[in-house]
Amino acid sequence: MLEQILLSFPKKPTTRQLEVEQNGVKFSVEFKKVKYLRMRAGNDGTIKVSAPLRASRVQVEQFISSNSAWVEEQQRKYAMKSARIEYFTEAELKIEAVKLSEYWASRSGLVPERIRFRRMSTRWGVCNIASRVITINLELQYFPPECLEYVIIHELCHLRFRGHKEEFWRLVESFLSDYKARRKMLR
Ligand SMILES: [Zn+2]
Repeated sequence: MLEQILLSFPKKPTTRQLEVEQNGVKFSVEFKKVKYLRMRAGNDGTIKVSAPLRASRVQVEQFISSNSAWVEEQQRKYAMKSARIEYFTEAELKIEAVKLSEYWASRSGLVPERIRFRRMSTRWGVCNIASRVITINLELQYFPPECLEYVIIHELCHLRFRGHKEEFWRLVESFLSDYKARRKMLR
């Protein structure tokens, strides 16, 4: 979120919307009761700008221009995101994850209480050892099925071993001999 204080504008009391295009990027500007100009990236590749009611079009355009580096960064991120291959829809991922965890639970004897799903930015899976609840990151929909299977086995193995000591990895390997290659795909 970027902010810039605007001082002493001519009075313009109505709420307005404005579409601005600069260097092929679409900015959807909304004038509302805010003190500062702000920008955030929308999920569709557009940039949403909130502007104080009294801000002028020129001020909005200047604000956009002065933050071109930030805008470029958002465009780059959006391009990377939209180029991703979707291996599963969200619904498919959930079904597949439940199937795999049932299969591996029966093979390993490591049975979770429940599988749940979330979008997470730092972890592919979480195993709550006390409640035996395993959380799977929905972002795995952008990785091949082998990765999902690896994450499930990894989390199931935490039902026996808390940390990532040698004994833990030995257990993972006993179920999945190529786990290192699969882990690599997840970076
Ligand atoms: Zn782990």
